[in-house]
Amino acid sequence: MSENEKIQIEIDVSKRPLHLEHPTCSKGHSLRCDNVKIHDYASIKVVARFKENSGFIYIDPIYGSFDNIIEGMHVPEGEVIELFCPECDEKLLAPTDTCQVCLSPMFLFHLPNNSIIEGCMQKGCMFHKLKIIDAEEQVARLFEERMLL
Ligand SMILES: [Zn+2]
Ligand SMILES: [Zn+2]
Repeated sequence: MSENEKIQIEIDVSKRPLHLEHPTCSKGHSLRCDNVKIHDYASIKVVARFKENSGFIYIDPIYGSFDNIIEGMHVPEGEVIELFCPECDEKLLAPTDTCQVCLSPMFLFHLPNNSIIEGCMQKGCMFHKLKIIDAEEQVARLFEERMLL
């Protein structure tokens, strides 16, 4: 291991943010994109549609961070996009929830351990919501590890 890599790992452990490792659609298709990294983590690649346009969006995998990259179309700040699974075209929409900040619809990704993550689909809004459907101890463990497996 070079000196550089060692420093990198030390920083990583102390400041590792809560991030999404294995988001999927409801059918279990992986949305993880190792080719495009945001904040050094694999991004979440989904199809994005805005009015008649469609492209891809690489979503920031860090909880509470929204440094998303939109590819193939321009979406002005404040506009709401729709997200779809690249494999089965499932609409990745939270069926009942809306953003508590701006009332826009929210996307929904499934995570292992029966948890889901929701986020606001308005460009510029940073709202995220994490729901763990399983036992409370899982919540404790997940936050202790600061990572969603
Ligand atoms: Zn799918
Ligand atoms: Zn919002």
